[in-house]
Amino acid sequence: MKKIAIVGGGAAGYFVAANLGKKLGEQTVLFEQASLPLQKVRISGGGRCNVTHACFDPLDLVEFYPRGKKELLSVFYTFQPGDTMAWFSDRGVELKIEDDNRIFPTSDSSLSIINALTEAVERNKVQLNFSDGVQEINKVENGYELITKSGKHFFESIVVTTGSTPKFWKSLKNLGLKIVNPVPSLFTFNCKDPRIEGLMGISFDDVSVKINQQKLNTEGPLLITHWGFSGPAILRLSAWGALKLKDCNYKFETEINFIDQSKEETIDFLNKKKIDDAKKNIHKNNPFGFPKRFWLSILNYCGITDKMVYADLSKKQINFISSELTEGKFQINGKSTFKDEFVTAGGVDLKEIDFNKMEAKNSPNLYLAGEVLNIDAITGGFNFQACWSEAFIISEELKKIL
Ligand SMILES: Cc1cc2nc3c(=O)[nH]c(=O)nc-3n(C[C@H](O)[C@H](O)[C@H](O)COP(=O)(O)OP(=O)(O)OC[C@H]3O[C@@H](n4cnc5c(N)ncnc54)[C@H](O)[C@@H]3O)c2cc1C
Repeated sequence: MKKIAIVGGGAAGYFVAANLGKKLGEQTVLFEQASLPLQKVRISGGGRCNVTHACFDPLDLVEFYPRGKKELLSVFYTFQPGDTMAWFSDRGVELKIEDDNRIFPTSDSSLSIINALTEAVERNKVQLNFSDGVQEINKVENGYELITKSGKHFFESIVVTTGSTPKFWKSLKNLGLKIVNPVPSLFTFNCKDPRIEGLMGISFDDVSVKINQQKLNTEGPLLITHWGFSGPAILRLSAWGALKLKDCNYKFETEINFIDQSKEETIDFLNKKKIDDAKKNIHKNNPFGFPKRFWLSILNYCGITDKMVYADLSKKQINFISSELTEGKFQINGKSTFKDEFVTAGGVDLKEIDFNKMEAKNSPNLYLAGEVLNIDAITGGFNFQACWSEAFIISEELKKIL
């Protein structure tokens, strides 16, 4: 009789199965409701699979997780991105670190990751039940009863790796686990504003963005899109502000500093230009590094005509331009999905979990990993890293049964 059930054949479920070893693998069944496993891994990173991130100090790594920061620290001390790299490299997957520290297979194909995981799971002789979703989970004496499409099954230990599937959260709620309501994370900001109209595609290397009302702020690259603002700075803010921004129905004011200096410094700088470059045409002389189209848009917004030279600038106009560049206020009205990449904040409340074992405190031998938990990160390979690390801990825990 099989002792262990893994519910969900995604990144987390497969990594548990891949690390069980043969002896335990032979006592394990993996239930997957779809006809094929690892579907999110397949499409991840635009088909390239951003498998982890080159950040090797757990203390730095946890900073990328708006939810799970405190709890993941001990998890990453057990298994961190260096271990992920070694794991895949030991199984013949060459990895590369890109300039922004994201890590991909050198093949630039998620198939390399899928093949390594699949081979390890098959080597461990885990029984794979595809198209056999778990409909119900019940606590019984000395274990759990699973009701699946193929019938009733009994197991001593259950590993839940069902991702963000609301239906299974309901089943877990019935087991007495508290579920934090899911809300979207990683989204872009919708904004209709004359200052950015027609400027889609323009990017800034380093801006700072604030949402004063919600006390949120971040820095990083920004992109103007058809709908408003995107780019790493916005995605980061959306992740850290996921709950607060939902509460205000995604209607809020954001403040952007497009240049790396304060309003006062900008006023001084433009006053100096008024003297040094008195005769130079303002429209034709953009003194800031950002794209010319944005400069023209801001000048038009501030009423600076195309004939004006720096000497023509009034104190009020210098103040206006400086204010627009360093504390430009934009009204956000709604959100959009970032490419197809979305992550859900919410899931099993972290207080329910003993992170030394990834086990439910109220239900012995019930283990959980991956997006089913109220853990999520910004983009960059961090979401998969949480899956690998949590799953590794579970497989080590299960080995103690032997
Ligand atoms: C388009 C896209 C691209 C992404 N790219 C990246 C990236 O490059 N890097 C990164 O770090 N993160 C990325 N992410 C996030 C990452 O994919 C997820 O965080 C990760 O897949 C979560 O893994 P999981 O195993 O917890 O859940 P999932 O991958 O969602 O797997 C859960 C599995 O459980 C199955 N299941 C659900 N309910 C049941 C049931 N009742 N019975 C049986 N089976 C069930 C599901 O069918 C599914 O196969 C991306 C996400 C998306 C949507």
